[in-house]
Amino acid sequence: MRKPIIAGNWKMNKVIPEAIELVNGFKRALADISEVDIVICPTYMALSEIGDMLTESNIALGAQNIFWEPKGAYTGEISADMLKDAGCEYVIIGHSERRAYFGETNETVNKRLKCALAAGLTPIVCVGERLDEREAEKTFDVVGDHVTNGLAGLSNDEAKKTIIAYEPVWAIGTGRTATPQQAEEVHKFIREELAKIFGKDTADLMRIQYGGSVKPDNIKELISEPDIDGALVGGASLKVDSFSEIVKISAQCSAKQ
Ligand code: PEP
Repeated sequence: MRKPIIAGNWKMNKVIPEAIELVNGFKRALADISEVDIVICPTYMALSEIGDMLTESNIALGAQNIFWEPKGAYTGEISADMLKDAGCEYVIIGHSERRAYFGETNETVNKRLKCALAAGLTPIVCVGERLDEREAEKTFDVVGDHVTNGLAGLSNDEAKKTIIAYEPVWAIGTGRTATPQQAEEVHKFIREELAKIFGKDTADLMRIQYGGSVKPDNIKELISEPDIDGALVGGASLKVDSFSEIVKISAQCSAKQ
């Protein structure tokens, strides 16, 4: 059985005192949860401080990006060692905002992914179609391309450690969520694509999160779908109540299985 994973992507939000307050709230609200993996991904600025706060807690730390070179003249970039030193266990790779605003491609996603895996970080690789691509009925082409090229060259063991986040771009930060059926259709497709590359046994072990306006009132239906193994949460991860509620509902659904 795949353990659900709920991750919060804070994007470019929260200065350090605000981040500390939020994490104190999560620690209080979520101390008893063991049925789901919980990850929060603050800004780089807050990683070290939050990493210290999360030591020996049931909440893991993740970063929002990684650069593939180990060190050197790469102004503004952050290496795997730096993320690990701050306490990171996870890293988001290829978020649609990075693809749209910072020129990320499947090639750069693949380099970041291999670097993260080599460093022992758990990657969360984001894939998903834009609205124009969905309307042009290219969803499966685009998502298939993100999966096959983004994960190219991975061994089966590396694939098992990789988490995919299916995030339809039209649902991110828009309040417009994919219906559970729309999301499941793509998750199932992703698992089939993964099975073609890595074999069914490996694909069945890989976790695929849904992301796109996930909230306490839609998580239950989404996570009840057979191929949806958790959520990558943006806006709703910036408040103690909404993120904690999403985690708790996911834990209840998981306990019932
Ligand atoms: C995200 O940033 O990955 C995301 C899914 O954002 P939101 O939940 O705000 O749509």
